[in-house]
Amino acid sequence: MVREYNHDVFAVDDSGTQSLPTGGRCGLVIEQLIERISRKEFSRFLRFSGGETPELPRAQRGRNLLLYLHVPFCESLCPYCSFHRVVFEESLCRRYFDAMRKEMRIYGNLGYDFSGLYVGGGTPTVMMDELAATLALAKELFSISEISVETNPNHLTDGNLLKLKGLGIQRLSIGVQSFDDTLLAAMGRFTKYGSGGDIFSRLVEIRNEFDTVNADMIFNLPLQSEESLARDLDRIIGSGIGQVTWYPLMVSDATRSDVEHAFGAARGAREKKFYSLIAERLAAHFRFSSAWCFSRRESMVDEYIVSHDEYAGLGSGAIGYLGGVCYANTFSIEEYIERLGRGEIPLMASRTFSRRERARYDFVMKLFGMELDLDALRDRYGGEILPLLWKDIGAFTMAGGLHYEGGKLFLTDRGRYYWVIIMREFFTAVNNFRDYCRTMTKECACHG
Ligand code: SF4
Repeated sequence: MVREYNHDVFAVDDSGTQSLPTGGRCGLVIEQLIERISRKEFSRFLRFSGGETPELPRAQRGRNLLLYLHVPFCESLCPYCSFHRVVFEESLCRRYFDAMRKEMRIYGNLGYDFSGLYVGGGTPTVMMDELAATLALAKELFSISEISVETNPNHLTDGNLLKLKGLGIQRLSIGVQSFDDTLLAAMGRFTKYGSGGDIFSRLVEIRNEFDTVNADMIFNLPLQSEESLARDLDRIIGSGIGQVTWYPLMVSDATRSDVEHAFGAARGAREKKFYSLIAERLAAHFRFSSAWCFSRRESMVDEYIVSHDEYAGLGSGAIGYLGGVCYANTFSIEEYIERLGRGEIPLMASRTFSRRERARYDFVMKLFGMELDLDALRDRYGGEILPLLWKDIGAFTMAGGLHYEGGKLFLTDRGRYYWVIIMREFFTAVNNFRDYCRTMTKECACHG
């Protein structure tokens, strides 16, 4: 599908540093090519039908690994969401957390160690006592030095914040999406989480309660206007929070009709303009932690795939990447609990990446974090990397997306938007993979 970008509306500003260059027709063709190739490549990356028996690679000590825990329960489900999530039921949730602690012990017994912990969902704070017991065990089993937890605005009570601080959490990531009440109502979030004004006030109150308070926002929602986005930007800057992650709307095949029903048809043509507005406004207050994450200072980010070379995915439907093996756990919550009850790792599928695929994965993920250290990559691949990556480096350099300095590759202003396209397609492919797995899991279809 060819998207109809309006390429005339972008201008390079006088300093030439913040605005996305127009690129003209040539730029448009390049962006469409990047989109098509990324879509094709990522759906191939996530094809697990090669008949491999799913298994975990052997633990290798001394690597900078992250532990991802997935908590798939939400009090109610948002129509646009492609994450693996089900409606909260207390007894099921307790059995699930118990199973996840069993899974952590298996990784510990296999010799894995982790320096960082990211708890995502779903809504990880849906049962605080279970979350507390799980984090305590993670700290007992592994050398965890930083913890990031996702939550929703209705869980920002004084009691919860006190408990979260007591658990040693450094980063709290809050799903805000927008402060615009019309958009919040269309997303089904106004009645659940309160008005944009209320959420803004709470962010201001809690902004210094953790090392990093992050707000997750969305741009390019079909109903969103430039004025609405500008007001969201004013509020993010005015709130004083330390970090914002501003995702483009990502619509998986399965959620497309729900999204269109709630907001109208997705309009890819505005994505670049909206991104340009966000990057321009935030650059004066934040620095780029990734192409779409903005931080006032160095801190953990939502995309742990950027900060950690490899990560273990624990929990139903979690995806991990260890030792060049990409794997996924079963999406059936009952099967997940049962298999762990038998002492089994609940893997559903795995695929071993070739050497070139691994190098390309590193190339994409590191540059999403704004820079790629070529010497570190050479060390990782035992010498020369050009035979593995010359096409990628050459193509993006020629397209004006990369510049080289002091042994590193950096994203240019234009490259940042290229990486928004690439990562949008990456996460859309992950969402499509989740949708596919859910259709294979009767139980999830019932809950979801
Ligand atoms: S957007 Fe967040 S709260 Fe809504 S269903 Fe998805 S994970 Fe749950």
